[in-house]
Amino acid sequence: MERRPAGANLAGLRDHNAALVLGLLRASAEGGSRVQLAAQTGLTPQAVSKIVGRLLADGLVVEAGRGESTGGKPRTLLALRPEAGCAVGIELDRRRSTILVLDLAGTTLRRRSVDIGLASGEPERVVGALAKRVSQAVRAAPDGAKVLGVGVGCRGPLDYETGTLHRPAGLPAWDGFPLRGLLEESLDVPNVLLDKDTNVAALAAPAAVSGSTAYLHLADGLGAGLLLNGAVHRGARTNAGEFGHQVLQPDGPQCTCGARGCLEALCMAALADDDPQTAARWLGVGAANLVRLLDIDRILLGGHQIFASPDVYPRAVADQIAEHLPEPEWQSVRVSLTPAGASAVAVGAAQLVIDSALGGI
Ligand SMILES: [Zn+2]
Repeated sequence: MERRPAGANLAGLRDHNAALVLGLLRASAEGGSRVQLAAQTGLTPQAVSKIVGRLLADGLVVEAGRGESTGGKPRTLLALRPEAGCAVGIELDRRRSTILVLDLAGTTLRRRSVDIGLASGEPERVVGALAKRVSQAVRAAPDGAKVLGVGVGCRGPLDYETGTLHRPAGLPAWDGFPLRGLLEESLDVPNVLLDKDTNVAALAAPAAVSGSTAYLHLADGLGAGLLLNGAVHRGARTNAGEFGHQVLQPDGPQCTCGARGCLEALCMAALADDDPQTAARWLGVGAANLVRLLDIDRILLGGHQIFASPDVYPRAVADQIAEHLPEPEWQSVRVSLTPAGASAVAVGAAQLVIDSALGGI
């Protein structure tokens, strides 16, 4: 399949610098002045004025009052117009899918759960049925909102570049099937992206520009999505984040991957004994390893096992990190449930499209 850049440009958003300006305005609740934007981007004030003029003309930003002045006349603040655009996010699971629409500020405008999944039938029929429901969501987008595209979050392994699944367990017909390509053909939208569910879920929370976040997903298995210095880390084969298969006990319980004593197997064994405390402690040990390896400063937790014991996991993971790091006060790590809850994958899939179109944060 032909490779093409992942981004989609809006009219008027022709270059990286415009995306940079929009990214800063998205990250800032109170907006920013042209002078601030020039200082933060390193662009000249003239270049910023030109970009802002174009974004104003396109309706992507608005003038939003006056800010503090450091002398001279007060500065006009600029803010993103959340209703100027939206994206569709899909969590494509085995039996069900969640389809939602997100505006540019990350507010969910519409959310539907449908009985369409990878195991529902032949791939062509599944994609056809899904495209029909997605088209309904696109048609229901608010008047005047430009639909930037559709993002799909799906269990791996898969290839982000080619938009295909790679040998999904128990679903041979999907191996190498051009899922993204067929959706693109079926939908009238500028951009379709396919990524691992854990990768997109990491995007479902407001991120610090320079920070590194790990999203840990404990459900039927255990995986991680990594946002390193604000960018999704996928690895060469979109196969980074196989966090659950680090071996912590070489003679431990058998794992689905064939090895023994993987973190995932240890968590699952504890959960099979109805012991979320022990599962949470193991998860914390693995999280501490990850923090030491990558200097992560924020951990988000999600997946149905986490939400089944929401008071247990954040505390146990934070405790294990504090216990295993040599200087926990210096290397402080925030641990919390994902703010997007059970919709984290679908929200993150829409966010991936918005980031791709408007400049990542
Ligand atoms: Zn394993």
